[in-house]
Amino acid sequence: MIEDLIRPNVRAMKPYSSARSEFQGEAQVMLDANENSLGSAGPAEFNRYPDPHQLSVKQALAPLKGVTPAQVFLSNGSDEVIDLLVRLVGVPGRDSLVITPPTFGMYEVAAALNDIAVERVELNADFQLTAEAVQQILASDAKIVFLCSPNNPTGNALLAADIEAVLRGFKGLVVVDEAYADFANQPSWTTRLGEFPHLVVLQTFSKAWGLAGIRLGMAFGSEELIAYLNRIKAPYNVSENTQRLALAALADTTRFEAMRQELLAGRAWLEAELAGLPIVEHIFPSDANFLLTRFRPDAGAVYQYLLSRGIVVRRPSQPACAGTLRLTVGTRAENAALVAALREFSA
Ligand SMILES: *Cc1c(COP(=O)(O)O)cnc(C)c1O
Repeated sequence: MIEDLIRPNVRAMKPYSSARSEFQGEAQVMLDANENSLGSAGPAEFNRYPDPHQLSVKQALAPLKGVTPAQVFLSNGSDEVIDLLVRLVGVPGRDSLVITPPTFGMYEVAAALNDIAVERVELNADFQLTAEAVQQILASDAKIVFLCSPNNPTGNALLAADIEAVLRGFKGLVVVDEAYADFANQPSWTTRLGEFPHLVVLQTFSKAWGLAGIRLGMAFGSEELIAYLNRIKAPYNVSENTQRLALAALADTTRFEAMRQELLAGRAWLEAELAGLPIVEHIFPSDANFLLTRFRPDAGAVYQYLLSRGIVVRRPSQPACAGTLRLTVGTRAENAALVAALREFSA
């Protein structure tokens, strides 16, 4: 039962009822929300509060994802929903969550901020869960496990059988963070929501959609769980500007698909070029829009050289990623500039 996972104070609380959730629609005279009826300072009109439930965006998004609008939660970037999920089930100072390092850093930040203990179950050298790791997760009484697949910063998707084993045996929320799902070869876990009421799938507009600047994250889950998220969010957590731009993007799936294909082709090109460089020791398999690459003898020197050429890449801080750089796939010209600089460094 999802209800048993929810913190008692959240179950008991009465959510804030905003003016816009009490009256929906448009009237001749709107004097209910202390807005400025005259208009807006600046070039664009944003004088009205946005739809607190972002229904238009959800209605456009749901069919694309094979879910109902009531199974969709939208947030101020995935960062917001990661924090809300931790707060929804984790009692500060008492509960714990599981992460599988090396992985995305925000889960640990949300845990620290909310005084939730972190249980670390390390991935193996191929950045997969071992049988023992799966058993360790199943044996935990943590309230959430975060599984990032495809994983950041490693790039690989976790094996479906392992995620399924966690879904079958773990009693807390299973959050599968699919920020990079659009670059992956396997089906999204949204296709399995009907089987697992404690599954939450996270996606984002920040990567394949090319909209990191508007801050829009998506969570998909059972209607019951999404309803709880709606109770605890800030009333107007997604701005009018963001909602409008997301709607426009969702109407432009041709551009989305063209960019997605170009980034996938760029990844293949970059991988082939990197493989031919003597300073490249290993390129980890990627289902994402980046390549985790191990350099020899000194990734730090490569990083500094690239910086001196005006090229910024990421140096993952996790111990298991020692000697690696995380290279985002860019435009054709950016990819070529990166390879040219690496070739110069090699010479
Ligand atoms: C980039 C990324 C996100 C997206 O975060 P936003 O707050 O939506 O920009 C989420 N999870 C992972 C693992 C990421 O790498």
